[in-house]
Amino acid sequence: RTRRQVAAAAEPVVLPDGRHVAVVANIGSVADARAAVASGADGVGLLRTELLVLDRDTLPDEDTQVADLREILEVLGDRPVVVRVLDAGGDKPVTALNLDNEHNGFLGLRGLRYLLVHPDILRIQLRAVLRAAVGHRVSLMAPMVTVADEVRSFRAAVEDAAESLRRDGTPFRMPEQVGVMVEVPAAALAADEICAVSDFVSVGTNDLTSYTMAADRTVTEVLHLLDPAATAVQRILDQLCAHAAAAGVPVAVCGEMAGMTEFAAGLVRRGVHELSMAPARIPVIKELLRDTA
Ligand code: PEP
Ligand code: MG
Repeated sequence: RTRRQVAAAAEPVVLPDGRHVAVVANIGSVADARAAVASGADGVGLLRTELLVLDRDTLPDEDTQVADLREILEVLGDRPVVVRVLDAGGDKPVTALNLDNEHNGFLGLRGLRYLLVHPDILRIQLRAVLRAAVGHRVSLMAPMVTVADEVRSFRAAVEDAAESLRRDGTPFRMPEQVGVMVEVPAAALAADEICAVSDFVSVGTNDLTSYTMAADRTVTEVLHLLDPAATAVQRILDQLCAHAAAAGVPVAVCGEMAGMTEFAAGLVRRGVHELSMAPARIPVIKELLRDTA
C-alpha cells in the first residue's frame, strides 16, 4: 500500500455529482475494529456478532455481551456501526447453541429465523446492543430475512428490549436505524415489501449469490457457480436497487462483491450508497471510486 493510499483512505469518497459513498468495514473482533480504523474506514457496515461467540461453550450473559460490544465500539469512536444480530446456522456453527447441520443448515432455522423462535436469546442480545450503544452511533441489522413479517417481528423485539430496559431503569440508546440484510432471493424480489418496513437494506451478496445459483458456499466443486457477475445475480440486484430507490430506502452492500475491484463502481452506479468490506480492501476501493466513478 502506498503512502498516498493510506492518507487518502481516511477521507470520505465524494463522487463528481456530489454524492457521498460510505466505504466501511466488515468486522468480527476488536482486532478487526483496529484494522478498520487503520484502513480509513468511514464506519462499520457489518459487525458479525456470531464471531464473538463462535467457539464459546455457552452464550455469554448480557453484561458480558455489553462489555464485548463496548470494547469494539470504543475503538470506533463516533463512526457509525451496524451491529448484526446473531447469524447462527448455515456456514456458521455456533457451538453454544448445539446446532444441527440439517435443521439449522442453509435452508433451515438460521439467522433471524433462529432468533424469532428463541426470543430469549434475541432479547438478551438486543438489550446488550442498546446498552452498549450509549455514547456511540449504532444501528441494528437482521440476517437471513425472507419476508416482511419477520422484519415486523424484529422491530417489535427491539421495542420490547427498549421497554424492558426502561422498566429496569437501565441506561440505553435506541439504534439510529433498524435495517435488514437482503441475502435471500425472495427478499430481493419482494424488496418493495421489505423496504416498507426497513430503514435500510444491506445486500449480503455471498449468500444471495449462493441461494440464487443453488450453490453451497462450502462445496469447492460448485464454487465456479458463485459468480456475482452471473446474469441471474445481476438481474436480482437490478430489481432490488429499483425497488429500494422507488421506496427511498438506502442500499448498502456488505458481501465480498463490495470489495472487488471489478464490481464496486457498478454497484455505486446502481445507487448503492455504502460498500462494506474487509478492512484491507478499503484503501484500494476508495482510490478506485475516486478515479473511476
Ligand atoms: C453475505 O452473505 O454476503 C454476508 C455479508 O453475510 P455472511 O458472509 O456473514 O453470511
Ligand atoms: Mg450472509
